[in-house]
Amino acid sequence: FEEESATSSHAEQRVTQLRALLTRYNREYYELDQPTVPDAEYDRLFRELVELEKRHPELQSDASPSQKVGGQALDAFTQVTHETPMLSLDNAFSSEEFEAFATRVAERLDSATAIAFCCEPKLDGAAVSILYEGGELVRAATRGDGQTGEDITANVRTIRNVPLQLQGDFPARVEVRGEVFMPTNAFEKYNEKALAAGEKTFANPRNAAAGSLRQLDSRITAKRPLHFYAYSMGVVSDDIDLADTHFGRLEQLQNWGLPISDEVKVVAQSSACKTYYDDILARRAKLRYEIDGIVLKVNSIALQQDLGFVSRAPRWAIAWKFPAQEELTVIRGVDFQV
Ligand code: NAD
Repeated sequence: FEEESATSSHAEQRVTQLRALLTRYNREYYELDQPTVPDAEYDRLFRELVELEKRHPELQSDASPSQKVGGQALDAFTQVTHETPMLSLDNAFSSEEFEAFATRVAERLDSATAIAFCCEPKLDGAAVSILYEGGELVRAATRGDGQTGEDITANVRTIRNVPLQLQGDFPARVEVRGEVFMPTNAFEKYNEKALAAGEKTFANPRNAAAGSLRQLDSRITAKRPLHFYAYSMGVVSDDIDLADTHFGRLEQLQNWGLPISDEVKVVAQSSACKTYYDDILARRAKLRYEIDGIVLKVNSIALQQDLGFVSRAPRWAIAWKFPAQEELTVIRGVDFQV
């Protein structure tokens, strides 16, 4: 008994320590756009916390970083309440973990037939929500903590491939969700110029995108080479028939003028996701933008609805992360191996 309680108090201490660390890293990453540790290190600590909370259910808490999405919206921006939450994604770090996810999905759906998945690159940028009313871009917001984001309408309007006006047979009201990112070439050029001018450089394209988006002066954002790809719909008015698959809805978005990554592909069953993973991993360095993995989504909307959500992520999707890139990164004078 003594041994058990010693283990549990050790676990409690570690959980407290991990929560404090992750809370600090979240703030640096999401609110200040200045991470001080590599993502791989963050992911390792996050996972350790999740494992400990699983093994010690008495330590679980809704306030834990394991239950939360992103960071707080900054007061300097007008706040936007999302009509449906903008969530995160669960992660898989190996093919075994992806297979365990696919098995969980099949068991939950009690499905004897193969389940089709929509495979997408996991763009490494910042999530945004863009609202169109009467086809016109009326509001854009960051994800923030998933419930409340920052109003960045003026900034998003400056992104050249975001349409200000939809085309074709669009619904009266639609919220488009997607990723704003900085293509790798443009990021390198931006940093070279900034270095020459003695200005602040960015640690990576992800921070460059997030930092550029969250500017109080949209003229600064306008000078940054940002790009957007849509990957889902939020609320949609009922004056239009929506496709019954995720991929079909992406095609609808494309027909309304929204840019979609040309790497998106549907596979008939989960086993084919590995081929998609291998193919895109092999081409990773040649892509125009940085990706940190792939996202696999159950393609049928009806099945997505059957599966539902847990606190911070949908049960019908997973981010299968690529191995961390072996390179020496310098962030704010701290050297570490990524
Ligand atoms: P996530 O990045 O693992 O996954 C969710 C996000 O993926 C979405 O919000 C969306 O922005 C993005 N995404 C890209 N392509 C997508 C697609 N095709 N479909 C759907 N979503 C897509 O989760 P997160 O909550 O944004 O961030 C957690 C990750 O951020 C961690 O795993 C870690 O790598 C990193 N992080 C690092 C630090 C640090 O200090 N280094 C701190 C916090 C978070």
